[in-house]
Amino acid sequence: MSRTVYLNGQFILEEEAKVSIFDRALLFADALYEVTSVIDGKMIDFENHMKRLDRSMEELHYPRKLDHKEIKSFHHELIKRNNLSEGIVYLQVSRGVAERDFAFPSEKTEFTVTAFTQEKKLVENDAVINGIKVMSIEDLRWKRCDVKTVQLLYPSFAKAQALKEGYDDAWLVRNNYVTEGTSNNAWIVRKGTIITRQTDNLILKGITREAVKECAKELNYKLDYKNFSVQEAQAADEAFITSATTFVTPVVKINDKKIGDGKPGKFTQLLRKRYIEKAKENTI
Ligand code: PLP
Repeated sequence: MSRTVYLNGQFILEEEAKVSIFDRALLFADALYEVTSVIDGKMIDFENHMKRLDRSMEELHYPRKLDHKEIKSFHHELIKRNNLSEGIVYLQVSRGVAERDFAFPSEKTEFTVTAFTQEKKLVENDAVINGIKVMSIEDLRWKRCDVKTVQLLYPSFAKAQALKEGYDDAWLVRNNYVTEGTSNNAWIVRKGTIITRQTDNLILKGITREAVKECAKELNYKLDYKNFSVQEAQAADEAFITSATTFVTPVVKINDKKIGDGKPGKFTQLLRKRYIEKAKENTI
């Protein structure tokens, strides 16, 4: 059955949603996005996703912001119209439609705002049960990875390469240190301490990362924000990724090396459990 999607204020069937070939998203990847997960028909961490969208828009000098209340309302409407119980709402804002020119168009140009739902098994799936295998690959992205743009060709290339070589995902490596996954933040656990990279312009400050930090504190886990290399990750007791769609998902192999005993780690599983409990308490 065809989905109902959102395009500039209208709810229409996906086949009817048409965007101009002059849209800046298409010509310059000049668009920002957010992915909000949905469980039991309700959204997790919606406000924090909107705050990050505001920041992304500011960083790229979008001349206006979007109204959070309005976005919330059409997210809820999409969930309802598509009967979404578990999955995501994808939101994208482009600088709009304008004659092709590297210079930004007039500030009066209307943004193109699109959103759609996708069903996805978030709580229970094979990746959680078995853990995932990741391959390291050089991080060749631009140096504003803190801004969530649709400029995703390199992460897509890296993921495709990982799948081709029999892995589930890739961890990106810059100057010998792991930055993050293709679409998730990377973590390791060593001697009871959870380690993830400090945030700067080279990684996306994940909304799930922030929520997981709180869970880790509640569980009295020690947290350390620092760079780690692939070799350090391979020698860790546990490893995992976080994102809106994977929550906390164990990593059981990095390149040719099993992590720990090659099974999802204990800390990781507890963190995931706590994250889901807490997320469920705060859905809207
Ligand atoms: N890092 C990258 C490159 C991502 O694309 C994502 C999510 O898409 C994340 C990290 C995790 O962010 P979040 O937890 O907000 O989903």
